[in-house]
Amino acid sequence: MSTVSAANAGTETTRLPGEPILPEARMHVVLPTSPVNGKVVHSKLCTKSKSASFVRHVCVDVSGTPLEGSWLAGQSFGVVPPGTDGNGKPHKVRLYSIASPSYGEDGFGKVLSTTCKRLLSEREPQTAKDDPTDHRLFTGMCSNYVCDLREGDAIPVAGPAGKRFILPTDRNAHDYLLLATGTGIAPFRGFIHELFVGPPEGSPLHAAWRPCTANVHLVMGTPYTSDLIYDDFFRQVAKHHANFTYHTVISREVRLDGGKGEYIHHYMDRTLPQFDQLLRSERTLAYICGLAGMQVGVFQTLAQRGLHSGYLDIHADLAGIPPADWTAEQVKRRVHATRRCMLEVY
Ligand code: NAP
Repeated sequence: MSTVSAANAGTETTRLPGEPILPEARMHVVLPTSPVNGKVVHSKLCTKSKSASFVRHVCVDVSGTPLEGSWLAGQSFGVVPPGTDGNGKPHKVRLYSIASPSYGEDGFGKVLSTTCKRLLSEREPQTAKDDPTDHRLFTGMCSNYVCDLREGDAIPVAGPAGKRFILPTDRNAHDYLLLATGTGIAPFRGFIHELFVGPPEGSPLHAAWRPCTANVHLVMGTPYTSDLIYDDFFRQVAKHHANFTYHTVISREVRLDGGKGEYIHHYMDRTLPQFDQLLRSERTLAYICGLAGMQVGVFQTLAQRGLHSGYLDIHADLAGIPPADWTAEQVKRRVHATRRCMLEVY
């Protein structure tokens, strides 16, 4: 055990073996109450042709604003849609994960990107007062606003936000297990770019950058193969870096071996030997991003297999209950991620 200045807390604290030192992340340099105008410079569909979802990779130029050069990969930024809501009040800020590396899409920290999925659904009654027969189409306001924007359009932005879901200062001091579902892949695009691709030529950071020597496993879960986001990018990186492994887990398709579709924790459980050593190592950091439900299955699987040590603090109340029987509520209230487990789920 050693005592260091806790990276973002600004206090002296005890650091357990393997706990990362995180860089100081800047926060809220632009407040959502007074957003600045960025400019959309690129918007591209990033699902494959037959996907029923619409997910866009949207790049926003924030040069000349306080957001320029202000974020770290893994942080979020805010979008404040123009106009007012049904009650005549200005729309509230919505947070989107930054999909860029810290040096941006351009290598100069001027252009950030995000991974935005259009919310398209049917209305459902939320309260007893709502009409139970109303099932008209419901379109999420902000996601469709962001996805509709064209190159050249202004977009009111704020941020950055988030202090913990970032890479450690010394990238090679750790190994990494990155778990994503759906658009939860966004921060991992930035991470993988920063660890294995690096800033483009011309960037002031280009000369000093070196590829990461750590072992990195990325596990991505989607309903169908056509929903895999940034799939070509991850496959290319994996092809050129033996220390990066890209795993895809499809929930609604039959597997190549004839097995049924599965969630990422089922996949990890089924193929445990490839993760066992990684998870037992004190060097390893786990990052989990995506659907709220994934936290439950992943935590249960780690605990069931005795691989939770260093990643989870499990309350004594649960000691006599097999992890497979934990309820979602028990996991949320009684199982806490440690400093070696970063969690961003919604
Ligand atoms: P999606 O494409 O529908 O993919 C989600 C995948 O996870 C599907 O294969 C789904 O399977 C599976 N899944 C469902 N329940 C699960 C569970 N309990 N454990 C493990 N896997 C499970 O995803 P999406 O629509 O993009 O949604 C992504 C979510 O991530 C959203 O809720 C979004 O808010 C969140 N997100 C969070 C952040 C962040 O925190 N910074 C960033 C981006 C996105 P089935 O559908 O077949 O059941």
